[in-house]
Amino acid sequence: MMTQDTFRALVLTQENGAIHAEFRQLTNDDLPQGDTLVQVVYSCLNYKDGLNVTGKGKISRFFPMVPGIDLAGTVIETTSPAYHPGDPVVLTGWGIGERHWGGYAQRARVKAEWLVPLPAGMTLFHSMAIGTAGFTAMLAVMALEEAGVKPGDRDVLVTGAAGGVGSIATTLLARRGYRVAASTGRAETHDYLRELGATTIVPRAELAAPGRPLESERWAGAVDTVGGDVLARVLAATATGGAVAACGNAGGAHLTTTVFPFILRGVRLIGIDSVTCPTERRRAAWDNLARELPADVLDRMTRVEPLSRVKELCDEIVAGQVRGRVVFDVN
Ligand code: NDP
Repeated sequence: MMTQDTFRALVLTQENGAIHAEFRQLTNDDLPQGDTLVQVVYSCLNYKDGLNVTGKGKISRFFPMVPGIDLAGTVIETTSPAYHPGDPVVLTGWGIGERHWGGYAQRARVKAEWLVPLPAGMTLFHSMAIGTAGFTAMLAVMALEEAGVKPGDRDVLVTGAAGGVGSIATTLLARRGYRVAASTGRAETHDYLRELGATTIVPRAELAAPGRPLESERWAGAVDTVGGDVLARVLAATATGGAVAACGNAGGAHLTTTVFPFILRGVRLIGIDSVTCPTERRRAAWDNLARELPADVLDRMTRVEPLSRVKELCDEIVAGQVRGRVVFDVN
């Protein structure tokens, strides 16, 4: 329960190398510096949050830390001329939940320059159904398009397709007219992925086995959320002039490949970094998301959970068991 003076936050501490996560009542004085105080309404679950809260990845730069790399809410007070009290705003990335207190709290104090206004026609809930995962998926789709990957070419592959980034990338590509091949390790998600617009399902095992430096040309492009050996296989089977947007490392951070896809087929490997994406591109991506992901489409891949369930959901996402997107109601 929030009173006027205190609010609830999940706080991570570290003791003898182990991470502890507990809810605490805080006051505004506890919050870090920033020009804008936000009443958080929703946050969401991303793979990075899972690594952070479980302690399986070194995400927090210091402790105590309020995790949560995304938030959506309304401005309570600000010294920035760009915003006013009551404005609905969205914040993804910029290091919140990593090196600045984040969204798993009922209030956050942040820099106005990190915020984007809630896009017209979008609700706070749906902005967090998108969150960093959807924003990253859009950056990846924009990168493929800018690299010349067009609908009508061969299939575009999405790896880790049933996850958050993967579900939204599959949806966006299909709605832009691409033929989407969705790779998943979970047979029970095949119908779900077809509903999102995938025309072909590629079992994860097919991409996990070691392959040759160059394979027959299969993909016009790819959005890869898995990394490791899967990314190497994807590069080897990307067609001449194709492009691969590398977003994640859910299957491994290593990459052992050869130069052949690059020098014999002109394949491009494009890195996607949602955290420090410049403001202009950030706003363009959010405008695209508002246009291309109507509420009913997002609702099909999203569920809402109370923030009190955050620890078990963080365990689940790190174990690769979360389908689509989870929005946290922080109040
Ligand atoms: P999710 O857990 O929702 O999705 C990841 C998916 O990867 C899983 O659902 C699963 O899909 C697949 N997967 C999980 N474990 C393995 C494994 N061992 N081998 C192969 N595939 C696996 O996470 P998110 O969608 O939030 O994030 C996906 C990745 O993208 C993460 O690595 C994350 O850190 C990264 N990311 C990067 C960003 C950036 O700015 N570059 C921003 C956001 C995320 P399935 O069951 O369908 O096989």
